[in-house]
Amino acid sequence: MSTPAEAAGAAGAAAEPDGPEGRLRRFATIWSRAIFPSTATSLTRPEFEQRLLPLARTLSEALHARPFDPARAQEVGTELVGMHCTDPDALSRTLGVVDAYLVLYCGGDSGDSGSGGSGSGGELAPDECRARCARLQHALAAGFARALRERTLTEQEAIARSAMAARSDAQHALHASEERFRAVFEGAAIGIGIADLDGNVLEVNDTLMQMFGGLDAAVRSRNVSDWGHPEDAPHVWKMYAELVRGERDHFRVEKPYYRGDGTVLWTNLTVSLLRDAEGRPQYQLALMEDTTERRLLNLRLRYEATHDALTGLPNRTLFFERLEKALSAGDGMRFGLCYLDLDGFKAVNDSLGHSAGDRLLVEVADRLQSCATAPREMVARLGGDEFVALTTGPHTEREVDELAARILGALSAPIRLDGREITVRGSIGIVEGPAGERGPAEVLRSADITMYRAKSAGGNRFELADAEADARAITRHGLTNALPTALERGEFFIEYQPLVHLSDGSVHGAEALVRWCHPQHGVLGPDRFIPLAEHTGLIVPLGRWVLEESVRQARFWQQRHADGGPLRINVNLSPTQLHHPGLVSDTVRVLERAGLEPGALCLEVTESALIGADDDLLKPLRQLAEMGVDIALDDFGTGYSNLANLRRLPVSVLKLDRSFTRGMQQHPADPVDLKIVEGIVSLAHSLELAVTVEGVETGVQAAQLRALGCDTAQGWYYARPGAPDRIHSLVLADAV
Ligand code: C2E
Ligand code: CA
Ligand code: CA
Repeated sequence: MSTPAEAAGAAGAAAEPDGPEGRLRRFATIWSRAIFPSTATSLTRPEFEQRLLPLARTLSEALHARPFDPARAQEVGTELVGMHCTDPDALSRTLGVVDAYLVLYCGGDSGDSGSGGSGSGGELAPDECRARCARLQHALAAGFARALRERTLTEQEAIARSAMAARSDAQHALHASEERFRAVFEGAAIGIGIADLDGNVLEVNDTLMQMFGGLDAAVRSRNVSDWGHPEDAPHVWKMYAELVRGERDHFRVEKPYYRGDGTVLWTNLTVSLLRDAEGRPQYQLALMEDTTERRLLNLRLRYEATHDALTGLPNRTLFFERLEKALSAGDGMRFGLCYLDLDGFKAVNDSLGHSAGDRLLVEVADRLQSCATAPREMVARLGGDEFVALTTGPHTEREVDELAARILGALSAPIRLDGREITVRGSIGIVEGPAGERGPAEVLRSADITMYRAKSAGGNRFELADAEADARAITRHGLTNALPTALERGEFFIEYQPLVHLSDGSVHGAEALVRWCHPQHGVLGPDRFIPLAEHTGLIVPLGRWVLEESVRQARFWQQRHADGGPLRINVNLSPTQLHHPGLVSDTVRVLERAGLEPGALCLEVTESALIGADDDLLKPLRQLAEMGVDIALDDFGTGYSNLANLRRLPVSVLKLDRSFTRGMQQHPADPVDLKIVEGIVSLAHSLELAVTVEGVETGVQAAQLRALGCDTAQGWYYARPGAPDRIHSLVLADAV
C-alpha cells in the first residue's frame, strides 16, 4: 500500500499540487500504483493513470453530489473491468485506496467545494462523507462484479459459438453447461462415449450401452484401441492416432464393432477431440449411430438389385459393374468374355411350359456357376436364356477358350425335367482383349454379334470375335435401321447401264441399277443393301419405286428419240417381290401411268429364285409375260437349274452370268467355257430364248460372244452404269 507521502511526491509534477485538481491527480496516481501490477492491460503506467483520472473524478463528484447517487460508482467498477483490471486483487486494492484516500484527497476539507458536479454545493459533514465513501465502495464493487460476470459469460459464449461451429451439438452441450450436457448425454438417441487420450473409456450413455448389447462391462472397462474390426476402413486408426495427438479435431467414418456376443454392430461414428480452456487436448468424444439394420437392409436391397431372382446368379447390373471394372483395369490386364445363348430354348419353353423352362434355366445356371469358380471368374444371367461368363487377369487369351469349352462341356449332359431327358446346347461368342481399349457396351455388342455367328454356324460351338466381322454386322444393323427413312428422304437413285446388240453395237435398252446415297457412308451399291431390304420387306416399296422411276425414264427416252428404235428398260425383281400379291397390278398400273407399252419392259428374275418354283409362284410372271412383258432369267449359270426345265418357265431372255465372260478374258479363252456357252446359246435359241451376256469388259470378249451367237451384251466395254443422260447420248451416237 502506498503512503500518503509517497503519493503526494509522485503526483507533484502537475501544477497546483494543492488545488483540487492536483489532489485529484494525486489520488489517481496512488490508485494506479496500487492496481497496475495486477492488471492485464497493455497500457503503460502513465497511460493507465491517465485512464484512471476520469474515474477518480467520477468518484470525487459522486462523493459530493446532491442528491447522493452511489450508482455512479458502479460505472467505475464497470470501467475497471473494461480496462482489464479483472483480477480480484485489483478490486480489493481499489476498495482500499478509495477507503483510505478518497475522503482525504477529495473530501474538500479546506473549504473548497471541489470539483462540483451539478448538484454539488455545501460542506459535507465528516460522518456523512465517510458514510458516502463506504456506499460508493459497495457500488463500485457491485459494478465490478456484474461487469466481470457479464464479461465471462460473453467470453464463454464466444468460445461456445466457435466450438459449435467446429463440433457437433452434443459437444457444444458439454462446453456450455454440465447439466445441459448431462441431459443430452443421457437422453440422446445416439450413443455417446467419452474416453481419455489413452483410450480408456470414462463414460458412456445408455444408448451406447444398448448398442453393444447392454453389458456394462463389455463397454466401460474397454480401451478404445481394443475395438478394431477386420472390416475397418484402412484409414480409421490413422485418423484416430492423429486425433489423440491433437493433430485433428474430428473424424467421421462408418465403423463395425464386435458386440460381446460376437455379433457385429455397424455404426456411423464421429469422434471429436475435446480441449481444455487453454486448447490442450483432453478427452475424446465419440458419437455413434447404429446403422446395423439399415446396412443389412441396404445389403439385401443391393443383393436383390444385383442378382437374378430366378437363378440367384449376378444379373446384368452387377455384370456390367464387373465388366466395367475389368475393362478399366491397369496395364497388362486382360479380359475374356463368353456370351452364351442356349440353342432351342424357346422350343423347350413352348413345348414343356414356362415352369419347366424356369427349372431348366436354374439347372443351367448351376452348371455354369460350377464352370467359373476361380476368384477372377464370374457368371451372370443377362435375361431370358442369355448368360455371360467373365474372366479377368493377365492370361485370359488361353483361359477364355478353356472357360468356353468347360461351359459347353457342362451343358452336354442331358437335364432331367419332368421325367424327360433334355439336351441343352448353347452358342458362345467370345471377346477377349486387353483392358483399357473398349467400353462395356461395345464389348457386349461384339460378343452378341459373335454369338449369333456361332448360332448361324450351327450352334453348340464357340466363335471368337473378329473386328472385321463385327464392323460388317454393325453397319449391316445400322443400314437396316436407316433403310425405311432413306426411301422417304429420297436417298436412292438409279443408274442405267446400256444393253447393246452384239450384231451391230446399237443400244438395245438399259438395265436400271439402284444405288443409295447414304448421308454418312456415301454411295452404296445394291449388294450392300438389297439383301437387307429383302430381309426386312422394304424391297417391295423400294422395288416399286425403282420400277416407277425407270419406266418413267424409259418413256422419256422414247419420246426424245422417236427415231432411235424401241428402247427397252430392264428392271430387277427380287424373290420377295415375286411373292408379293400386288406384283401384276402394280406393274400394270406403273406402265399405264407412264404410257409405256409392256413390250418395252423386261423384268429380270434370278435363276435361283425360280428353282423349284411351283405354278402358283409362276402365275404372276406368266400373266405379265402374256401381257407382253419380257422376263429375263438373270445370273443364268450360277444355279443348277435343269436346262430342260426352262421350257416350263415364262421366260424369254437368258442373261448369262458374268462368270462365263470372265473365262473368255484369258488368252486363249478357256475352251470348256466356250463349249458351254455355245451349248447354252444353241439350246436357248432352240427354246426361242434370246441370250444376253453380262460383264463384257473387252473387245475380244465381245467378238467371241458375237461369234458364239449371243444376241445382246452388257458390260464396261460398252458403258458403266451411269446417269440417264449418258444413255441418251449413247443412243444418239448410235442413231448417227
Ligand atoms: P445384276 O442384275 O447381275 O447387275 C449387274 C451387275 O454387274 C451390276 O452391279 C453392274 O454394275 C455390274 N456390271 C455391269 N457390267 C460389268 C462389267 O463389265 N464388269 C463387272 N465386273 N461388273 C459389271 P450392281 O449395280 O452392283 O448390281 C448388283 C446387283 O444388285 C445386280 O446384279 C442386281 O441383282 C441387284 N440390283 C441392282 N438394282 C436392283 C433393283 O433395283 N432391284 C433389285 N431387286 N435388285 C437390284
Ligand atoms: Ca440384273
Ligand atoms: Ca446378273
